[in-house]
Amino acid sequence: MSEIGFLGLGRMGMPILKRISSRFKVKMAYNRNKGKAAGLSGIKIADEPFQVGSGCEIIFIMLADDEACESVMFGENGLTRTLKPQSVVVNLSTVSLDFSLSASRRLGANMCRYIDAPVLGSTKMAENGTLTSLVSGPETAYNSVSKILKAYSEKVFYLGSQGNAVKMKLVSNLVLAVNMATIGEALLLSEKSGVKKELALEILERSGGNSSILGLKKETMISETFEPVFALKDMVKDLRYISELSSSLSSPAVLANSAEQFYLAAQSIGLGNLDFSSVIRAFRFLVGRA
Ligand code: NAP
Repeated sequence: MSEIGFLGLGRMGMPILKRISSRFKVKMAYNRNKGKAAGLSGIKIADEPFQVGSGCEIIFIMLADDEACESVMFGENGLTRTLKPQSVVVNLSTVSLDFSLSASRRLGANMCRYIDAPVLGSTKMAENGTLTSLVSGPETAYNSVSKILKAYSEKVFYLGSQGNAVKMKLVSNLVLAVNMATIGEALLLSEKSGVKKELALEILERSGGNSSILGLKKETMISETFEPVFALKDMVKDLRYISELSSSLSSPAVLANSAEQFYLAAQSIGLGNLDFSSVIRAFRFLVGRA
């Protein structure tokens, strides 16, 4: 029986690990900041990623970005230092297409298999096991882990060749980024028109432009607390990957590029660690009402 390991205990990683470990035995987990592992019982906490590589054959990864994955997988103390042939690495992180293709090639050279498995949904859905998983890479490797994916996913789409799931995750976040920014701009416009945010949101929920993100972020946009669920800096990162993908496919990136510039500006005024719904603050800043 293959042993399961898990790397990355952040806002998404921790609830996903808990869902998996409630149904399957997880042998080992790793996080750079060990404090985040406090309270996990029955799972050995590794000091370094390579210890997970030597102890486990099915390894889930949920990290911030390309740089984090590069370091944890291929760095000096990385997973691949000890990873056994035929091991399966399942990357849930939102990474770039380039990273996915390069990681797959490098793991393949070590006779290991790499699966893209980014998720749609957020922390609550991770807790409830209602995420959507987009999967691509070798089908036999996917089949060997598909039951585990169902521990945290309501729906799984298998999209075939390596990188396809990453592409669709980025496509999905393009819609999300532009949608959220549009809601922020619309709320400022409604305020300037003399309509309070609460009422404007209630009306927008009944409009043709309603979206699930509007419903999910309504309360935080009213209270303007912006406790991070999906950090704005992560949307900046995703928009960079989206722009790169658009360029590589010679596909127009009119709204993607505008959104990227806008979220970058929002990050530069200190909103990076807040939830990405704090975009309304960036619009206020633009009109001198921050
Ligand atoms: P998070 O809470 O910030 O967690 C990030 C994780 O990456 C932590 O375990 C962190 O370790 C680790 N990390 C960052 N830089 C590292 C480095 N250089 N070396 C080693 N470890 C590093 O982020 P999250 O919200 O869980 O997001 C994780 C991934 O899921 C991202 O790719 C994000 O785009 C994607 N995603 C997020 C959501 C959401 O709603 N939050 C939804 C869908 C997809 P430390 O604890 O040591 O910092």
